[in-house]
Formats: sequence, structure tokens, C-alpha cells
Amino acid sequence: MKVRIIGAGAAGCFCAANLVGMLKEKGVRAGRDVRIEVLERGYRPMVKLLHTGGGRCNLTNTFESTGWPQFKGRPTAKGLAMPSGRELAAVYPRGYRLMSRLLGEFGPAETMTWFEKRGVLLKVEEGGRVFPISDDAAEIVRTIRDGMQGVDLICKNEIDSIDPDGADFTIVTTGGGPGMQILWNLDIEKEAALPSLFAFKLSDTADGGKSRLCSLAGISAQASIAIAGTGFRSEGAVLITDSGISGPAVLKLSSHAARHLADKSYHAGVLVNWMNMSEAESIQTLEKLKQDNPARLIVNAHPQALPSRLWEHLCTKAGIKPAQRWGESGNAGIRRLAAVLCNDSYMLSGRSRSKEEFVTCGGVAACAVDPRTLECKKIPGLYFAGEILDIDAVTGGFNLQAAWSGAYAVAKAVSEAISAR
Ligand SMILES: Cc1cc2nc3c(=O)[nH]c(=O)nc-3n(C[C@H](O)[C@H](O)[C@H](O)COP(=O)(O)OP(=O)(O)OC[C@H]3O[C@@H](n4cnc5c(N)ncnc54)[C@H](O)[C@@H]3O)c2cc1C
Repeated sequence: MKVRIIGAGAAGCFCAANLVGMLKEKGVRAGRDVRIEVLERGYRPMVKLLHTGGGRCNLTNTFESTGWPQFKGRPTAKGLAMPSGRELAAVYPRGYRLMSRLLGEFGPAETMTWFEKRGVLLKVEEGGRVFPISDDAAEIVRTIRDGMQGVDLICKNEIDSIDPDGADFTIVTTGGGPGMQILWNLDIEKEAALPSLFAFKLSDTADGGKSRLCSLAGISAQASIAIAGTGFRSEGAVLITDSGISGPAVLKLSSHAARHLADKSYHAGVLVNWMNMSEAESIQTLEKLKQDNPARLIVNAHPQALPSRLWEHLCTKAGIKPAQRWGESGNAGIRRLAAVLCNDSYMLSGRSRSKEEFVTCGGVAACAVDPRTLECKKIPGLYFAGEILDIDAVTGGFNLQAAWSGAYAVAKAVSEAISAR
């Protein structure tokens, strides 16, 4: 009997390692009773995994932001309350229904236990992000590789199209981007492949050229950002770059608005609220500043959360002379300043690749697979896992969790099918 896995990335290798373990428990030996081959177009397996989380591998998340009940800082065990579909949609803009099913079987707690059982010590960082204590993605790669005993890993072997007759079970885990080209001749439901988790290139509405904000590259501030005229918005750290903005809030917004922005050819109005409050509240805050600091220069007395250079830039944009004293500012100036602080407006002129993370949304549609086994409904014996499925998430370890959960579901289904034969 032969199992062919196409793509030796996170999902493909995790699937192979689990399949080996599950078959062993049933008395079936990989390499002896079943041939498991993993075909990889690159020179080595799991190269991308090695670079995840800036080389530290943010392998999962405690899902605390989704309201998943926590026990000692971990999601509670399988079978207990899980986040609702709506809560999961906040982190999985696409594929949350399928993820809800897959997480119920192999969620973050199971992922953490899987690696810990194999000797990997884990830690939880801000935002529920889980990393190996070693801060070394190579430890995660080695641990998965160790589980692939008896598997034939064949590198430098690019597969052009899927031939389900080439093996008893074919598992496609070729990932996003170019990895989705393999689907070209497959007559199943697919969603258009589009980038997600990207930084924004901006131009000022005023001059239409490169945004003057970019002269502040490297500065970051907490802000809320929105796509003008839509309900897409997010909050968090915004990092000014030399071509626009990036940082967690921007990546999250790019994820939720990925399809909308692609439809608009990445041209849309972007509104930044640097105060994270309404314009009326901002006016009150500025009036209080004026009241408390009448003799100080406006440039020197500003809301604490705003870095000085950004404050100076926004004052100039509002037509306020930074060298003016607070006591000399009039109501009209304060209103103008509040309007700029709360509705700082730019034009999105394109996207740039985030150095942190980058995923593809789209791929095999959820309706094309059995939600329990990820087997293709139209082609029995063909399975999908990982980014090739139309599942993608915001940053924080959720994308790798989707790879682990899907790979586990496929390994379980294939091992059961093999032992039933
Ligand atoms: C820089 C960066 C950092 C990231 N950091 C994180 C993070 O910290 N946490 C997180 O959750 N997510 C992170 N992600 C996202 C995460 O890496 C992906 O979601 C995950 O790798 C998807 O796993 P996969 O197995 O589906 O695809 P991949 O890991 O991309 O693996 C696909 C494999 O298939 C191979 N392949 C493709 N086409 C073919 C073919 N035709 N024939 C043979 N082989 C083929 C590829 O060479 C590759 O090895 C990051 C992404 C990037 C780019």
C-alpha cells in the first residue's frame, strides 16, 4: 500500500509523522507494511517552518483572544467549551467553520502536548503566542523530522499536477502561493488565491505621491485603522515604514480585508485614528492639555501615547505651528488638530510583503472536502491539509495551528482507512 504526500512543509511533514505514529499503534510499520513517500520540490523539508516567527517559530496560540476557556494559561482540554464560530472568525477570516471542527479534535492544547511529549519546552508570550523556550524553530523542525521514521523523503521533486491514481492515498500539502498551482487541472471547488498579511504602501491624499508620513519610518504607535467606507477596522501597534505602514494592526486589517482590497486593486482610503478615541473625546483631551500647559510649546506637551516626532508631523498636517504655545491656540485649531488625529487620511497605493509573515488566502474550498477527514468529496483517496485549503488567519500562531490541525485530521483518517483494509 502506498501513501503519497506532496509537499514537505509544516502540514506535510506533521501529517507524515502522525501517520507513522498512528499506524505503529495499530501494528502497521511505515517502510515495511506501508510505503509513505513525501515529495518535495525544494532541497530540504520544512524550510519555511525554519523561518517562522522570525526564526523562533510561533507554533500556536492559546486562543485567549477568542474566549477559549483557559486553565493555567492554556486552552482547556478537548471536549470542553470551545470558541464559537463568530469568535474564531476574528482570527480565521476564512475557514473558521472548518477550523471549528478541526480544532475540536486537535487544538492548541493537543499541539502543545504533542511537542512537549517529544521533549520541546514551550512558553507563552503576549497575545497567547506559543514559542519553544529555545526560541529556535530548528527544534520544531527536528522534532517533526524525528517522527518521520520509515518515511521516504524525496527532495528536488516538483509535482506538476495531481494524479490520484499514483498511490492508494494522495495527500496534497503544497501550501499557498506557487504551491497552489498544482490545483490547476483539478475539477473541484476552489477560491481564488490572494495574498493576506501584507503591509500597506501609502500616499497622502494631499500630494498623491509617497506619503510624507514615511519620513518617520521606524516610529510605532498604538492606533486604530480602518478602510474608508467599509466596516473593516483593527486596533494595535502601527509601525511607520519607508513606504507606508505595517505592524500587527495593519497585518490584521490586511487579513480581514484581503478579498475587498484585491477587488479594489489595492487602492482604497485608509483612516488612522492615532488617539484611539472619538473626535469629541480628542477635543476634550486637547483642551485639557491646553488648560494644564498654557505656557508650554505645543510641540513639547502632547498626549503621552504619541511619539514626539509623530505628534509634530500631525500638528503640521493640521496647520498648527508646533512652536506656538498652548495658550495661544484657538478652538478652531484644536478642532482641526483633533480631526487630523482621529481621521488621518491616506490612500492605499499598493501592498508590500511583510517580513514577519505572509500567507495566501483561497485554495481548495471548504465545501470541496469532508470537514472531518479533509478527503476530497469528488475524488475519494485524495486529501488536503495546510495552506492549500481556503483557511488562513491573522498573525499569532493561528496559521501553523491550522496546518497541525488539518494534518492530524488527515493522518487519522488515512491510518484508519489503512487499518480497515
Ligand atoms: C516569513 C514567514 C513567517 C511565518 N511565521 C509564522 C508563525 O510564526 N506562526 C504561524 O502560525 N504562521 C507563520 N507563517 C505562516 C506559516 O508558515 C504557514 O501557514 C505554514 O507554513 C503553512 O504550512 P503548509 O505546510 O501548508 O505550507 P508550507 O509550509 O509552505 O509547505 C509547502 C511545501 O510544499 C512544497 N511544494 C510546493 N509546491 C510543490 C510541488 N508542486 N511539488 C512538490 N512540493 C511542493 C514547498 O516547497 C513547501 O516545502 C509564516 C509565514 C512566513 C512566510
